[in-house]
Amino acid sequence: MLIVISGPSGVGKGTVCKKVSKLTGIRIAISATSREQRKGEKAERDYYFINEDEFKLRIERGDFLEYAVVYGHYYGTLKTEVAEGDVILEIDTQGAMKVLKNNPEVLSIFLLPPSMEELRNRIEKRGREPKEAIEARLKAAEAEIDIGKRRYKHVVTNDDSSKAAKEIADIIKQAESL
Ligand code: 5GP
Repeated sequence: MLIVISGPSGVGKGTVCKKVSKLTGIRIAISATSREQRKGEKAERDYYFINEDEFKLRIERGDFLEYAVVYGHYYGTLKTEVAEGDVILEIDTQGAMKVLKNNPEVLSIFLLPPSMEELRNRIEKRGREPKEAIEARLKAAEAEIDIGKRRYKHVVTNDDSSKAAKEIADIIKQAESL
């Protein structure tokens, strides 16, 4: 089973996905990216960090199930990551649309912020983006939320990460029993 989880920047996907993985025992696919490694991140645990040239080479080779350019950097799911067993893909909406197009049976879940104000608070608190970038993220978030509501099978609000994770784990369990 392939499970796709998306949500706007700052919604708290990372935390929720880790909790879902713990609750269900389903692993999270490690994505490849051309962006810089951040402090606290570990290569081959958080991402496969590869440069843009290698990324493009691997696109040519057909190594990716999907990829997208997100905020100027390449991100993609390697086919080798989804070759075996159940797996959670924590990917953006562009990549998710490609996966859903080819595999309509995929379980798609979109994470919503409790409100746009709360999303702004979370992005600001994280302090990762310069001020101008925050506005761009919020604008992009609105477009993504629109896609999320229209194209994903399930929409879950991330008010509290443990609650959201439990809700998603229940959705997965229900889908598994079908
Ligand atoms: P970040 O740089 O903050 O780790 O991630 C930025 C965005 O890239 C997030 O929205 C995340 O979901 C998305 N992303 C991470 N990995 C992948 C991937 O493999 N494919 C796609 N399409 N998006 C990804």
